Amino acid sequence: MPCQICRAPTRNVLTKEQNISCGDYFEGRRLYPEDRGALQLMECVSCGFARFDGMDRWSAEEFRQHIYNADYHLCDQPFLGARPRKLAAWLAAALPRQRLVDYGGGEGMMAALLRDAGFDALSFDPFYGDHAAPVGTSPVVTAFEVVEHVPDQRGLFRILMELCDPSGMIIFSTLLKAPELQGEWWYASPRKGHVSFHSGQSLQLLMDDLCFFCRSLTTEMHVAARDPGLLAITEGWPVIAVNDPL
Ligand SMILES: [Zn+2]
Repeated sequence: MPCQICRAPTRNVLTKEQNISCGDYFEGRRLYPEDRGALQLMECVSCGFARFDGMDRWSAEEFRQHIYNADYHLCDQPFLGARPRKLAAWLAAALPRQRLVDYGGGEGMMAALLRDAGFDALSFDPFYGDHAAPVGTSPVVTAFEVVEHVPDQRGLFRILMELCDPSGMIIFSTLLKAPELQGEWWYASPRKGHVSFHSGQSLQLLMDDLCFFCRSLTTEMHVAARDPGLLAITEGWPVIAVNDPL
């Protein structure tokens, strides 16, 4: 299949067992010992976007069964508390109090912390919690460590953009890959639910295609807006590390 971002051909650059998670690299052991077979990571020869072949065509039910099941917490301890606390504190330091929708916010802890800090914050996650889909638009839409979990990148960003005010911004994190992956990469781990990986170029191509401007604050944190002038305020924001360095 051609690249979903730029339609150029793809090639296999990494093969990984389906039950390997990012946490395996940090803990130095297999968190899920069962061998579920190998998946091929296919990288675009032009823009560098990469995806796990096969997994990118799974249904939502297959993701619930194999990834977002009762054992998911084993591979994402920061998901449970430390990451929402860190991100809420960062947003509270960077933004005026306003309406905010957190897309893919798990059980909604970050949004709850932001409400405590004075934001009108809502959380919505297709796989967690019983929160209803948000209605209307918000000046700020966040999606932290969501992009890499979603097979259909245009579909995801269209949803985020529909949730965003015309003069609003989307703040999202995903760790950018090297344009040409060389050897191993901990972030490309299927059991975590990671299936799609942007290079800096593929992310910019996608934003251009959807008529958004995008500024990467770091290799992990990015801000997109229809109005490029809005991105200038992010220059004064504190730096945040979303993932621990391996
Ligand atoms: Zn491409």
